[in-house]
Amino acid sequence: MLQQVNGHNPRSDGQAREYLREDLQEFLDGEVLLYQLDDLTRVNPVTLETVLRCLQARYMADRFYTNAGCTLVALNPFKPIPQLYSPELMREYHAAPQPQKLKPHVFTVGEQTYRNVKSLIEPVNQSIVVSGESGAGKTWTSRCLMKFYAVVAASPASWETHKIAERIEQRILNSNPVMEAFGNACTLRNNNSSRFGKFIQLQLNRAQQMTGAAVQTYLLEKTRVACQASSERNFHIFYQICKGASEDERLQWHLPEGAAFSWLPNPERSLEEDCFEVTREAMLHLGIDTPTQNNIFKVLAGLLHLGNIQFAASEDEAQPCQPMDDAKLPHEEDWMESDLPKEDSPLPGSVRTASLLLGLPEDVLLETVQIRTIRAGRQQQVFRKPCPRAECDTRRDCLAKLIYARLFDWLVSVINSSICADTDSWTTFIGLLDVYGFESFPDNSLEQLCINYANEKLQQHFVAHYLRAQQEEYAVEGLEWSFVNYQDNQACLDLIEGSPISICSLINEECRLNRPSSAAQLQTRIETALAGSPCLGHNKLSREPSFIVVHYAGPVRYHTAGLVEKNKDPVPPELTRLLQQSQDPLLMGLFPTNPKEKTQEEPSGQSRNPVLTVVSKFKASLEQLLQVLHSTTPHYIRCIKPNSQGQAQTFVQEEVLSQLEACGLVETIHISAAGFPIRISHQNFVERYKLLRRLRPHTSSGPHSPYTAKGLPEWCPHSEEAMLEPLIQDILHTLPVLTQAAATPG
Ligand code: ADP
Ligand code: MG
Repeated sequence: MLQQVNGHNPRSDGQAREYLREDLQEFLDGEVLLYQLDDLTRVNPVTLETVLRCLQARYMADRFYTNAGCTLVALNPFKPIPQLYSPELMREYHAAPQPQKLKPHVFTVGEQTYRNVKSLIEPVNQSIVVSGESGAGKTWTSRCLMKFYAVVAASPASWETHKIAERIEQRILNSNPVMEAFGNACTLRNNNSSRFGKFIQLQLNRAQQMTGAAVQTYLLEKTRVACQASSERNFHIFYQICKGASEDERLQWHLPEGAAFSWLPNPERSLEEDCFEVTREAMLHLGIDTPTQNNIFKVLAGLLHLGNIQFAASEDEAQPCQPMDDAKLPHEEDWMESDLPKEDSPLPGSVRTASLLLGLPEDVLLETVQIRTIRAGRQQQVFRKPCPRAECDTRRDCLAKLIYARLFDWLVSVINSSICADTDSWTTFIGLLDVYGFESFPDNSLEQLCINYANEKLQQHFVAHYLRAQQEEYAVEGLEWSFVNYQDNQACLDLIEGSPISICSLINEECRLNRPSSAAQLQTRIETALAGSPCLGHNKLSREPSFIVVHYAGPVRYHTAGLVEKNKDPVPPELTRLLQQSQDPLLMGLFPTNPKEKTQEEPSGQSRNPVLTVVSKFKASLEQLLQVLHSTTPHYIRCIKPNSQGQAQTFVQEEVLSQLEACGLVETIHISAAGFPIRISHQNFVERYKLLRRLRPHTSSGPHSPYTAKGLPEWCPHSEEAMLEPLIQDILHTLPVLTQAAATPG
């Protein structure tokens, strides 16, 4: 059964819209009042241009949130507006009888989501999907929602005492600075760009209080630890350590003031994210004590020194490449109360310091990076082969990535054990999804393929949930409806992940066969096998081997060079074995000698086990996420970046336009504008309102219900009022539903 509010029937909608048209003409003509329009479904006609003009007018008038039917559009203000996010305002939205009547805000979405969980009608888990391109404000928005729930869903005690430091809500909030220090970095598009995807499940008990949370992360960009694009930076934590360590800690971690590290580009830029104290404090609250913290920072300093190891090419192939002396550490011997072995070591400082900080024997560390061991033949004889210089670099980088990725996963699990509630202390959850938005660069590779694949999946979820579901349901209910064309992206998903043949399957196949194949061959294989797909773009202008996928948000060219290798993400087994020898307590925990789970070893041609590739692991985690999302009622927030310079009061039309197109906002508005915003199943409806059968009105005007949207009917007997108070409140919220309900038989 479908219901709608405001007596707003699509069949009589023509009149209402005529009226609105006149009403709005003024706005559109004058443009002066355009900023007052806080729901884009009221713009008429709904076109990219009118929507854009309305958003611009609102942006310039400091109105950053606008409803677009079932979606909230959030424009990034790029300036602090404390009053817009104050706890007082949170409480105002929370206490409002009808929060949707207040100005559009993230808090409206937050509060409605919260009420949905509580609602007597189908108490169901909720999720809020925050999307948008890098720098649009996704992380900011999800943090803001977490703060909102920390206030409105706190247990009453914390409201009274204001001593919430050790409370669960506070601990959950503390997970943000820690995850951001280790997982965010300054990029060209955002000074605080999240380099991982995140789904956080806020757990609520029967009393609607937040009792815990669980975090799931996706695809950390671990290559950043060893390789940063020019003008970008490594993860914040490295800068925090270098800038924030005390004299004493500098000595312990071998970080002299002014030391230059290859893996620490652009250290001179100071960002507000560079606050070491905040991270340490938050870690402490999450139960990571100071000695453990110091151990983590020592290992990270070890990685910086590892990055300074540079190899010289060896003239004789049979000889390993030797590390070069590095002059990057100023007067090392002078400042160090050297705990390095005193005897004259022929090795450069970078090797010695890295070994010391990582708890590894110097020569073993060096040798593992320089020399490849190959097992071959029936007896699995071991051959040792010195690596060429480039391979030494790859192995060094691989070591760093291996350590950093394990460390990050371990941190997430520590955070989870600190904030996750026991299963019997929560009943429902609100999930917040903050994942990287659609990406298209001049050079796109496996990372972008995964990210854009995730965005296609989310877009499909959105389309399926709101657009298709709504339209199909109308058809089933026999409601008159003019179908709006919406962009279905199934064809694109088939191209990327479909079976039996898709881009993913072809790349995986290359990894499985482990055959030498060039980038050009991969291009040809993809283009031949998938030629029939409407989403495989025409690849005319390419000089480098590549293929084009026409995503819902636009075409993207992916380069095939290195794709297969990245997908394998090979970890030479010697590197894992090396780390298992570490004497460092943290690394000993991260790389146990008898690991329960088998670490991924370099795939070999004979291997019968299917290789767990990056793509297949990502696909599995994405499917899991979508399953969770499907089991919830979703809410959507689309973040929009008004300009790419990060400037306040600057609205660049072309940039916003392409974002509006990318998320199909206009189609969404069309459907939302004429749709029924409330649906209740018949059974739930009867359950909820059967009490009212006893309160039949004395007079009734025909088959239609006498209940109106104006308030409760006069006949409501006084004596029952108190008893019915909660119900009345409930009805007041959804009263208009009744108008239609009584008229609908069955
Ligand atoms: P994303 O996660 O989408 O890449 P962020 O959430 O990190 O983007 O936002 C980028 C930057 O924009 C933030 O660091 C912050 O400076 C600014 N910002 C975003 N949303 C707001 C807001 N509502 N108010 C003030 N500044 C904001
Ligand atoms: Mg982010």
